[in-house]
Amino acid sequence: LEFEDMFLRRELLMGIFEAGFEKPSPIQEEAIPVALTKRDILARAKNGTGKTAAFVIPALQQIDITKNKIQSLLLVPTRELALQTSQVCKTLGKHMGVQVMVTTGGTTLKDDILRLSETVHVLVGTPGRILDLAGKSIADLNECPVFVMDEADKLLSPEFSPVMEQLLSYLPKTRQVMLFSATFPLIVKDFKDKHMNTPHEINL
Ligand code: AMP
Repeated sequence: LEFEDMFLRRELLMGIFEAGFEKPSPIQEEAIPVALTKRDILARAKNGTGKTAAFVIPALQQIDITKNKIQSLLLVPTRELALQTSQVCKTLGKHMGVQVMVTTGGTTLKDDILRLSETVHVLVGTPGRILDLAGKSIADLNECPVFVMDEADKLLSPEFSPVMEQLLSYLPKTRQVMLFSATFPLIVKDFKDKHMNTPHEINL
């Protein structure tokens, strides 16, 4: 399967090719078509497999640019990964006019408040800060249809797990969850049973 065969919008396809991606990697080939049906995805994925684009492409494809709403929440465990992931969104979404915001702990809330008073379609960040923004009604997630967890084994570590549970309460009941993880400890399995809807499982 090629990117051209995935029914992606032209502007997104342009971003993909400009990024130098000619053919989908195996995880992209399997994840993207399924994700575009809005089904939940649970994927075992290591770094270097192209997993970031495997969730960024379907997330971008589902965005309505004319709507001033957060439509994708991408959660990652570290600031560095948040910056990388938001960069991938910006690169692939370059011709779409998509507005991407990244936020992590350690910066002032004031800047986030200002940024969120403008259009944000994709919000990328770490759990604590995102929960803070949702809890204070600074970020409105209640119509956000796409929720991605990258490095979910780390996002569900004892340190983050209670934050994740709380965060989910700010998202709509009907939402697509895409979970990517290198390992599947019990806590990830528990999350799947509790919060995911018969996900398509990818094990490459
Ligand atoms: P990731 O596993 O998401 O960290 O991606 C690893 C590297 O592969 C990154 O440098 C991506 O830019 C690159 N990459 C991802 N998908 C493709 C693709 N379909 N073709 C070529 N390079 C890719």
